[in-house]
Amino acid sequence: MKTESVKDKMITLVGKGVSPGLAKGKAFVYIDVLQRDSELYVIDRAQIGEEQARIDAAIDAVRQSLTIDAQKIERQLGQQSADIFLAQEAMLLDASVVDELKRILEAELINAEQVVRTVFRLLARRFRDMSNEVLRERGDDIDDLSRRLLLSLAGIHAHSLEKLPANTVLVARRLLPSDTVFLSRSSTVAVLAEFAGPAAHAALLARELGVPCVGGIPELLETVHTGDVVLLNGAEGTAVINPDSQALERYERSLDEVQKRKETMAQVSLTERTVTLDGIEVSVMANVRSREDVELAMERGADGIGLFRTEPFFLSAKHFPSDKEFAEFLIGSLHSARERHIDIRLLDIGADKNPIYLHLPPEPDPFLGRRGVRVLRAYPDLLEAQLRAVLEVSRQFRIGVLIPMVTTESDVVQVAEQLQKLAVEMGIRQLPRLGAMIETPAAALSIPSLKKHVDFLSIGSNDLTQYTMAAGRENPLVTEYFIDDHPTILRLIELVVRESGDTPVSLCGELAGRIDVIPRLLRTGIKSLSVAAALVPDVKNAIRNSRSYHVGAAS
Ligand code: PEP
Ligand code: MG
Repeated sequence: MKTESVKDKMITLVGKGVSPGLAKGKAFVYIDVLQRDSELYVIDRAQIGEEQARIDAAIDAVRQSLTIDAQKIERQLGQQSADIFLAQEAMLLDASVVDELKRILEAELINAEQVVRTVFRLLARRFRDMSNEVLRERGDDIDDLSRRLLLSLAGIHAHSLEKLPANTVLVARRLLPSDTVFLSRSSTVAVLAEFAGPAAHAALLARELGVPCVGGIPELLETVHTGDVVLLNGAEGTAVINPDSQALERYERSLDEVQKRKETMAQVSLTERTVTLDGIEVSVMANVRSREDVELAMERGADGIGLFRTEPFFLSAKHFPSDKEFAEFLIGSLHSARERHIDIRLLDIGADKNPIYLHLPPEPDPFLGRRGVRVLRAYPDLLEAQLRAVLEVSRQFRIGVLIPMVTTESDVVQVAEQLQKLAVEMGIRQLPRLGAMIETPAAALSIPSLKKHVDFLSIGSNDLTQYTMAAGRENPLVTEYFIDDHPTILRLIELVVRESGDTPVSLCGELAGRIDVIPRLLRTGIKSLSVAAALVPDVKNAIRNSRSYHVGAAS
């Protein structure tokens, strides 16, 4: 709810706190041009020159950024990946494309944005209708090019999230998975989002980055402007835009106190075991997705890596990464966690995550369709490449392999068999531990049969909540039903823990990092949690101050 919305005046916004912490920074209002309706306006003949100049300038700017990106990607992933950007650049030099832009502008007398949309939409369709598969795939490159040009016409330089200045408060309607790939902890100090339920990508990303996040603020993008100073309190769910001197003073005082408390907790987290008041030891691991995250996890005293999400790596690639590239990425990311348990999740795509090079077909109910292990079973090459990569990594690290979105026994059996077969082929005798993600009610109610085929279980409470409460985690209209600490969810967790017997079970959804829920979680009997790296000290501290009341506790 907002109180005022006049530029440069102090405004206090009250939303929902989705990632704790205090932050001060400058707002960057992020608008994805492909998501918004671009203006269509008719121009008169005298304006043709002006619009043509805008198109030419956008083409120049995009060509320059493509060259820079190609160099960067070549350093990171090799020449083959860089070629995609070079091919896009060549397309912008193609006389027939340039002529067509000019022709449409002169014939239709519409603004530059609409000219770009019209020409590139037709071009993409032409490629997608081709019988040759390689050429069909070029349709996505053309969409990407169109997006870059539209961003450039809007004065936003693609991909703007990649190059944010230090101390940025990212202000967005919502963030999509492909956007999140470009954010960096070094520049983003906080996230303010119009739509961000507790398990939405914006919230999840903010927690992973260890930055405060406030969500659920209507008309946010109309209220906050790029360059506004923002003070954000992620625990309270408030943001002050353009604070006056009193608000700034109050903020500095709270920041001092929080800082001191954090330093003490971080020290304890690194050096002491995590034991409840009644003597139960709990392990607190970290959820990560990059080398930066792994390093932060180790700095904050994580006992291991409970969930390595691999989707960002696959989503940021322009082509299907080979097993070698995937293994290199993992090995490069894991160094600082060498002696720890590391659970790597196989690619969990489908639904809202769809790498462009896979061309997964559209589905009527994507979240109830081919997702996670279902995609892996449908594309055996994809499964094999990942298993080869993780087996390679297992020669050097103590890893577990997590199967995402399990619903049936055959989901785990197929992966287990394939893992064994490939290990024999690769001459690996010591198989990595195999784990099933428990994130559907069907899986939670099938522990006796699932545990026969795996070494450990990991409860994903984000999806378990979505599927149990029948409320989409990204759907702002049903946030009130997405209750991840609902008694039904806690009962399911308790059931999984009880039925798992000697099979280790961990909880890695966002619920595990909710300080207010820790006492209730411990009562389910769970003894292993995996949370965003930055939350590890807080979660350990909360455990030390709670009782588990569980059978077997010392007092
Ligand atoms: C979950 O569903 O709780 C989980 C950890 O997986 P993700 O959030 O990546 O879907
Ligand atoms: Mg999940």
